[in-house]
Amino acid sequence: MQKDQASVLLEILSQGLKRYAALSTQKFLGDRTGYVGLSDVGRAMECMRATVASKLLPAGGGDHDVPPEFAQATLRRHLTLQRGHCFEDLVDHALNAHDLLLLRQLEIEIIHQGTPIRAHLDFVLVSPTPVPTVRILECKSAQRLPDALYTSYETQVYGQVGLLHAAWNTKAFSLRDANGHVVSSRLTFPELCQACLGVKLPKRPEQVDLQAWVLCLSMTDGKAFGPYVAHPAMLEMCLKTASALWLHCISCREGRSDIDSLPTANGCHGLCSYCDWNADCPKFRGEEHHDWEGDLRTLFTLKAKKQALEETIEEKEELIRTAYALSQANHAWIQAGGYRCKLAQQNGRRGLDTERLRQEITALTGSVSKAEQLLARCQTRGQPTTRLLVRAMRATPGATQDRVASSFSTAN
Ligand code: SF4
Repeated sequence: MQKDQASVLLEILSQGLKRYAALSTQKFLGDRTGYVGLSDVGRAMECMRATVASKLLPAGGGDHDVPPEFAQATLRRHLTLQRGHCFEDLVDHALNAHDLLLLRQLEIEIIHQGTPIRAHLDFVLVSPTPVPTVRILECKSAQRLPDALYTSYETQVYGQVGLLHAAWNTKAFSLRDANGHVVSSRLTFPELCQACLGVKLPKRPEQVDLQAWVLCLSMTDGKAFGPYVAHPAMLEMCLKTASALWLHCISCREGRSDIDSLPTANGCHGLCSYCDWNADCPKFRGEEHHDWEGDLRTLFTLKAKKQALEETIEEKEELIRTAYALSQANHAWIQAGGYRCKLAQQNGRRGLDTERLRQEITALTGSVSKAEQLLARCQTRGQPTTRLLVRAMRATPGATQDRVASSFSTAN
């Protein structure tokens, strides 16, 4: 099928973003199939199948010549992935504007029981005074800022601070410049800080105020989560997950096990919507999915709360409208402490009286059928939409809201 120029332009952008991402990964992170990264560990905590697939199969599953209905989704996914890198550059500018002592993309490399593990830390801020202080800063971008940090992010940042603490005095630290060239390799952390920042740090991490933070940024807002400090049990869990992931990768690569036999994400997980391997994921086979129950219950409860809230808002609005009308304020503002209100006049909506139009056209053309044909040519039909129907099958003792409303539907 011949593509229009606008679609071609968007496809060029989409493919370019994908290629740029691959080149940047190669430049700064190297061959990601040869080691386990801490973001892999965080992701594996959520879905082992997706994480192993991302390490063994080509990313994107081949975006070339995708049908137009998927091309837009592909572009959206690449833009979302790149948004994080743009924010990282912005944070870099902000931190540098303060002349802070800063390491960007610090790499920690260890081998744990045969598993090669590499951590890449977005930013590490170092200060020798008033007490030796080190702050890890991990940047995450989000459409909407979360109330609590996702498990995968927490796992990643616990792994970062745990590894920095555990490997402090070993030759595990390297740093690259902005072009991806190694500037310092295989030094201890104090040696690297001395070489790159001219800062002398203690030989023991216990003498340092060491914390990690996650900076979540949306297009218009930001939120910091932390502090996270080195915690032996959390590090142990990260290392165990890294080893399990590595063994799954080897086993699948050698054909001793199947990717589809690996554990998948629980419930209706956010990862699944932009997962490259969702089309044939065994998680979605069959018609019984007990692990969705929690998500359906949450949606059901939220919808019931929304409905109750909307009713309360409507009632309160009506009371204030009546009070305003009785006050005879005559469209002026009424002051009430830190608030003010007034009833504003708004123009009515414009509408088209189709029956009247039909009569007018019939009178003009002198033909009922011509009028009908003309009206039919001007009619439009919106895109088909889907509707999510959620129904409570039974009322459970704790699920009061389930009994409040027995069904909801959501259109998109
Ligand atoms: S679709 Fe969801 S469950 Fe399946 S592999 Fe992807 S993230 Fe995991």
